[in-house]
Amino acid sequence: MKMFRQWMAGRHGPDELSFAILILFMICWGLSLFFPSRIWLVLEMLLAVLCYYRIFSKRHFKRSQENARFLRYYDMVRFKVQHVKHRFHERKTHRFYTCPNCRQKLRVPKGKGSIVITCPKCRTKFEKRT
Ligand SMILES: [Zn+2]
Repeated sequence: MKMFRQWMAGRHGPDELSFAILILFMICWGLSLFFPSRIWLVLEMLLAVLCYYRIFSKRHFKRSQENARFLRYYDMVRFKVQHVKHRFHERKTHRFYTCPNCRQKLRVPKGKGSIVITCPKCRTKFEKRT
């Protein structure tokens, strides 16, 4: 254990990106059971090598930058997924329109008949059925 700790000293270690690569590896492995092909083996090898390379890399700053970039992208995707989920839940009570002038997304309650919508961003008025 002490030897391993000494060997790991100064190395990057596991992070979120390595974990994501590991999950991708497991997905590939799962898919390879249903769709047998040599391509999976190559892909799994590449992912495993990449994962170990990142964990045991001594270029800590560079690996941290990669991880930060991954986390930014991951947060963006997570935000978009949440947005789509939120809109899906509100589809029965609200309608969504886009302002014809500034492309601002607008949400109005459903079932109010024909209404004039005023864009809060650019004050453009337009009529829509809700
Ligand atoms: Zn507008």
